[in-house]
Amino acid sequence: MSRIKRALITGSTSGIGLAIAHQLAVAGIDLVLHGLEPQVEGDKLAEAFHKQHGVEAVYVQADISQADTIVQMMEQIESQVGPVTILVNNAGIQHTAPIEQFPVDKWDQILAVNLSAAFHTTRLAVPAMVAQGWGRIINISSVHGLVASVHKAAYCAAKHGLIGMTKVTALELAAKGVTANCICPGWTDTPLLVEQFKAFAREHNTGYEEAKQGLIKAKAPYPDFVSPADIGQLVLFLCSDAAKAITGTSMPIDGGWTAH
Ligand code: NAD
Repeated sequence: MSRIKRALITGSTSGIGLAIAHQLAVAGIDLVLHGLEPQVEGDKLAEAFHKQHGVEAVYVQADISQADTIVQMMEQIESQVGPVTILVNNAGIQHTAPIEQFPVDKWDQILAVNLSAAFHTTRLAVPAMVAQGWGRIINISSVHGLVASVHKAAYCAAKHGLIGMTKVTALELAAKGVTANCICPGWTDTPLLVEQFKAFAREHNTGYEEAKQGLIKAKAPYPDFVSPADIGQLVLFLCSDAAKAITGTSMPIDGGWTAH
């Protein structure tokens, strides 16, 4: 029986998720793109993927901070194109503040999008993966799933939690042809970092470009950002047969940040 390879990449309208979608499409994997952008814009993006790579591509718009919205999204995908057998939980948000000033609504939002959403998509996607005896769950955690930085209580809690949940998923599914892993990027130049670049520029009285370089030097020996396309290549490798025994891991792609 031929294997269905259809990937849902949450948050694939921007940054790392978009780059992952490109790498999977180049390899001929059908896509379910997802984000907050209006349906009409997402449809154009899906059409562009189809034209460029010849893969089937659809877009679903859903705010995944809500559990019931995720249930509806997964039902919509199943009825529109069929089951998802590669799940990339990538959507994520950030907010920085000292813990005693951390806004409670931001805490709730970050835990919902960066952690709970991955629980819901995973629990809903697993039965189809198990049914075909093959599946891949790839969770985009962060270096902040492995180490901490100041002012990132919610983000670090969510990203550490994602690694824990991934390990449990891996244990439960290892004998069923389904792997679950985390990728842990360091600084990657995407819209997620814009506020942190601005804050660094304010605090150090530098320009925006100097702030970007300053942030890199503050954390990692590798003197550049992580390339989103390289993260996409790692996702693609984890989808390959060569990665069938890689499960329950958390892979840094962080320019040496966590080697300290
Ligand atoms: P980004 O802001 O470019 O993309 C985030 C995506 O998530 C967007 O498509 C957005 O629409 C989607 N999203 C956000 N909130 C959502 C919600 N409520 N419902 C549905 N979709 C929502 O950011 P990015 O840097 O590409 O981040 C992707 C992932 O990589 C995140 O999980 C982030 O934590 C992680 N990450 C990023 C970096 C970095 O340096 N940029 C480093 C480590 C990990």
